[in-house]
Amino acid sequence: MLTLPVEVSASWKAAHGGDLHASGQLAMKGDKWMHRFVYEALPGRIVFGVGTSRSELSVEIERLRVARILLLTSARGRELAEQLAVPLGDRVVGVFTDVRLHVPAEIAEAARSAARAVGADCLLPIGGGSTTGTAKVIALAMPLPIVAVPTTYAGSEVTPIWGLTAGQRKQTGRAVEVLPKVVIYDPELTYSLPSNVTGPSAMNALAHCVEALYAPGANPVTSLLAEDGIRRIAHGLPTALAQPDHLDARSELLYGAYLAGAVLAAAGAGLHHKICHVLGGAYNLPHAELHTVILPYVAAFNQPALSDVMGRIARALNSVSAAAGLYDLARHSGAPAGLKDLGVRRENLDEATGLVLAAAPQDNPRPIDRAGVRQILESAYTGLRPEVIC
Ligand code: NAD
Repeated sequence: MLTLPVEVSASWKAAHGGDLHASGQLAMKGDKWMHRFVYEALPGRIVFGVGTSRSELSVEIERLRVARILLLTSARGRELAEQLAVPLGDRVVGVFTDVRLHVPAEIAEAARSAARAVGADCLLPIGGGSTTGTAKVIALAMPLPIVAVPTTYAGSEVTPIWGLTAGQRKQTGRAVEVLPKVVIYDPELTYSLPSNVTGPSAMNALAHCVEALYAPGANPVTSLLAEDGIRRIAHGLPTALAQPDHLDARSELLYGAYLAGAVLAAAGAGLHHKICHVLGGAYNLPHAELHTVILPYVAAFNQPALSDVMGRIARALNSVSAAAGLYDLARHSGAPAGLKDLGVRRENLDEATGLVLAAAPQDNPRPIDRAGVRQILESAYTGLRPEVIC
């Protein structure tokens, strides 16, 4: 692969203590990282295993000594959620099912009212990131413990990040109060995930791992988790798509998704997430599919500045390069190839470039300019195999 030296942003270099090779590439040797880093571990109890949603839920609820649980789930997931809640008996005092993607403000208000109306002392979201997100915005307003039972690979259940959408604008924030106290990961619950959700949802988790390797809070501990998350997701995804009830593949994917959420929470995210946030909001694009499309091109853009990190990603993907490996996995995931397939029009690219540029993180390892953003978006628009962007 062609790798040309590029200037590495001074702010990123200062934050991460990397050295420039003679070639101009940034080296992040493990021992350099040992000189100085900050890792803020988050609290949370993780219960992982096949069948745990049936065998351990009531045990965990008992441990918390709560008696008035509001069950949250989507209309589609209600039957399963109510089945899982049977052992909780009359401790479940309400069910909220009006869950929507990105938590619109009116849904947040309705969910808070439901929690108040039943005098809830615990929130039990069983579902994907939208369901967990709804519980989080309740906990933001009233301090209730959350016991989360995720059924997708979103990873929200281990982050203190909440999101709320008012009109077209999505607002996000961090508050430790919204971090679930307990998470029950049961791979069996993901057997029913259709492949058009499995693929993009897993790619979304992969994006969290990739960006955690160079995000502002990246450190040796989160990088270890991120690299293993990439390996697990890349290994589990093809089999889970071919055989949705393959226990080992589903377990590997869910474990990878947990690691992905954990590193997003501790290390943060970067340019890729910012692009997705901006484009998703401006053109109303599907969340996980957008991540799947964009990720390989941001890797191609950052490759010349981050050869060590990208080498680590490539190894975890068992590929010749990070960008190529991510692209191949994205193609395998069944998600649309390019922005054009998601409904973006070529004439949007000028405006999109400006919007991304205005929001782009200043501490991206490779300095970001208009030409670079334009090239990422042009390449992502076509959906062709990424070349390193020089
Ligand atoms: P989602 O919760 O909307 O679920 C996607 C689809 O899968 C839905 O149609 C849902 O009904 C279906 N589904 C869920 N579980 C299923 C199962 N087991 N079987 C069959 N169908 C199932 O979407 P998501 O991708 O899980 O989460 C996306 C949301 O989470 C976005 O709003 C995103 O911003 C947010 N998110 C937040 C964080 C955070 O840290 N706060 C992290 C990642 C994602």
